[in-house]
Amino acid sequence: MKYISTRGNVSDIGFIDAVLMGLATDGGLLVPEKIPQIPAEKLQAMSKLTYQELAYEIISYYVDGEIPENELKELIEKSYGTFRHPEVTPVQKVKDNMYVLELFHGPTFAFKDVALQFLGNLYSYIAKKTGVTINILGATSGDTGASAIEGVRGKEGIRICILHPHGKVSKVQELQMTTVHDESVLNLAIKGTFDDGQRMIKELFADLEFKNKYHLRAINSINFARILAQTVYYFYAYFQVAKEKDIKSLNFSVPTGNFGDIFAGYLAKRMGLPVDKLIVATNENNILERFIKDGVYQPGEFRSTYSPSMDIQVASNFERYLYYLLDENPGAVTALMDQFKSEGKMVVNEEQLRQVKADFAAHGVEGEECLQTISKYYAETNYLLDPHTSCGIAAYETCNDSSEVCVTLATAHPAKFNESIERCDIEQTFPEQISQLFDKPQYLEVVEAVNDEIVRKLEKHFN
Ligand SMILES: *Cc1c(COP(=O)(O)O)cnc(C)c1O
Repeated sequence: MKYISTRGNVSDIGFIDAVLMGLATDGGLLVPEKIPQIPAEKLQAMSKLTYQELAYEIISYYVDGEIPENELKELIEKSYGTFRHPEVTPVQKVKDNMYVLELFHGPTFAFKDVALQFLGNLYSYIAKKTGVTINILGATSGDTGASAIEGVRGKEGIRICILHPHGKVSKVQELQMTTVHDESVLNLAIKGTFDDGQRMIKELFADLEFKNKYHLRAINSINFARILAQTVYYFYAYFQVAKEKDIKSLNFSVPTGNFGDIFAGYLAKRMGLPVDKLIVATNENNILERFIKDGVYQPGEFRSTYSPSMDIQVASNFERYLYYLLDENPGAVTALMDQFKSEGKMVVNEEQLRQVKADFAAHGVEGEECLQTISKYYAETNYLLDPHTSCGIAAYETCNDSSEVCVTLATAHPAKFNESIERCDIEQTFPEQISQLFDKPQYLEVVEAVNDEIVRKLEKHFN
């Protein structure tokens, strides 16, 4: 299996090099040269596997022998051994034909653990093999930072620095990041916004001398390993529903920001999983909803919402879908991305828009609708949704026919976003791991949002 860039100027690199490269050096995203096809008999055999066994089968197609079988199995066992549920990502039936895939049983109670536990172990494995320490640098608006820190803490050959906007993440998110006491972890709380953090990180990665000197690596969701790890639970969910119901195919509703999670579902479908509709659920930051409805991809005005992890204007993984939409033609992708850069928007033609509508349904959920859905499901089914999952459920209600079976992805535990749950007049009990956080000391340095200051801190931490 080789990986290529959506823009056509990187090709013929293997899995480990694709993981280390992150963003392709030509500015595109890395995709497999050919999507592996899983025949129906093989799917049948996979349906009886545990989560870890299934993860091994799916991931093997993409690693393609670059990591020996026993080492890959051990890496997967380690990654999902930290989950609190024996099934890793259990499926709950909420109503007839309606299921929720709970992705929040990992260390930080959000779905990003599924990918970042795997990526952390993968980086540590690579560091051990090559003898080179890996230094991870990332910016977060909340969930990614906590999840990435949990993914690498205490691991050999790997250090991490995460920038978060001081005082602008949820209390639980802040505690999850900053109560980790480990010399490999540095939390920088910047006096600025998430966008400031993101911009500084971009500039530091663009300084190739600095990047190479410190072996800087990224953890953002454009890394193909993250998509790959997320593909597994689509298969797992399908098999769990098929155990109790005679289904030929099903729909998935996916709360989406960067288009990462929904792209993993698209990939699973292209591999042969019988998926019907992929429902894109957004909040008021609805660039993806608008694109799916009218074929115009254009950022709108940024809005802060009850589902902050989906408050994103430009979906960094979207280019991967664009590549397949444009018949895997890197020239056409480059042309559209150039149009986007110069004009601030891109437009697909009528035939392409028909394909988009065949691939996806979409619904942008307003704040009130999000809260009402939380209240309604709590009253009717006693199931408490977090605000991101609530967007997924509201989109399911809009886009799913009652005869169709649908699985909605539950991307976070409600305890992480109690600010929104309280607005619904619901009092929840925190899981012990979260309530304990409030008694722990915090380790963070508050810094100005200027590159020089960050560089000084990094030179100390990464030496
Ligand atoms: C990151 C995140 C999302 C959005 O996922 P994408 O892969 O960016 O589409 C949704 N819900 C929660 C809770 C998240 O942390």
